[in-house]
Amino acid sequence: MDSIKSSLLIVGLLLSYGITMSSGLSTISRRRYLQWQTGGCIATASTTALSNPSVAQAANLKSRTEGYDVQHTEREWAYILSGAQYNILRKGGTERQKSSILNTYTTENVGSYVCAGCNTPLFTSADKFSSGTGWPSFSTALQGVEEEELDPIRATLDGKEVRCATCGGHLGDLFNDGWIYRGTSAAKTGKRYCIDGAALIFKPEDGGEDVFGDLPPPNRVIKYEQSMYRGA
Ligand SMILES: [Zn+2]
Repeated sequence: MDSIKSSLLIVGLLLSYGITMSSGLSTISRRRYLQWQTGGCIATASTTALSNPSVAQAANLKSRTEGYDVQHTEREWAYILSGAQYNILRKGGTERQKSSILNTYTTENVGSYVCAGCNTPLFTSADKFSSGTGWPSFSTALQGVEEEELDPIRATLDGKEVRCATCGGHLGDLFNDGWIYRGTSAAKTGKRYCIDGAALIFKPEDGGEDVFGDLPPPNRVIKYEQSMYRGA
């Protein structure tokens, strides 16, 4: 009898573990890559999070409107921002891979990356690295970037949401897998800020014209895809 009980207990534990794991995986952003550089294999996580925004939206319940220095009504934001900027910054959307011109920018494009919603400096070109994910990636952030408060386990599994600390705009996610990007600045910090290019504006250090991240890469016209990932 005891052996049956213990067997049932084990089965129960396995089942609950499986449910926990599957619900955890369902919240993983499509940006989360497991990259095995030795094998050269790149596997993307399930995209089910995008088809189930109610799960993902529960990830960060902090208001995007209260407690930030720069505030506008939704109507004003919709007027100020382009459709792509609004969907990401205010609605927590995610742009398609390789859809931003800033994904093609490297550390040789010297300058800073500011928030498309409020002009706050968020990242610098010195911390940009090529992640191969299709989204602009940085190994560290300036003080203008706010990280979601999450326990270390969930932060590692799902990534943390990162926002503009001045206007609350959604920027992307922070993952603790920088170590796999050998030879880059991310390998040193262990961090990968995976950012939607449309949330940013690049300001060249030489005083050249601003480059808006909601533009597609040169010679490529990519229809912007609406998606919901994080809550408004
Ligand atoms: Zn901002």
